[in-house]
Amino acid sequence: MAKRAWIKAAAYHEAGHAVAAFEHGIRLIDVSIMPDWEGDSFGRVLVDGKRFCRVWGPKKRQAALLHLLAGFAAESKYRGRRNWVGAERDIEHARRLTPQLRAVEPVATAYLLYIIARADAFVAQPRIWAGIEALATELLAREELSGTEAIETIVKGMNALEAV
Ligand SMILES: [Zn+2]
Repeated sequence: MAKRAWIKAAAYHEAGHAVAAFEHGIRLIDVSIMPDWEGDSFGRVLVDGKRFCRVWGPKKRQAALLHLLAGFAAESKYRGRRNWVGAERDIEHARRLTPQLRAVEPVATAYLLYIIARADAFVAQPRIWAGIEALATELLAREELSGTEAIETIVKGMNALEAV
């Protein structure tokens, strides 16, 4: 993939995480597509506490799982294909959070495909996709946004869709 293309893919990926966090009341601290070569990442979304709390109940756990897979889903929808390598860390994180993903095969894989299907359905909602596109576009122009700026951008994108 040409350089510009992977930057665009990263913007959609991080926007997917951020909109899922916003939609589920997870506090956004920072959204960035500045490459971190030492950390070997093309972008990141910082949410409250940086890590997901292990003592969360099932409802918050589902929201956290959706947040983790929404980056992969948004990038897939934008590119029209799966980037499994780019999602490795998110899936590893999801595995630590979710006992079902550590079950015996083929149960673990079936559960992973189930949560990916849910993340795909989440990002495909017109309102959500409008928020993701607005944030990805802004990220490509500015590289990094604070949580407050990210939320303003997401809301503006969602409202623009509703105004049509
Ligand atoms: Zn990710």
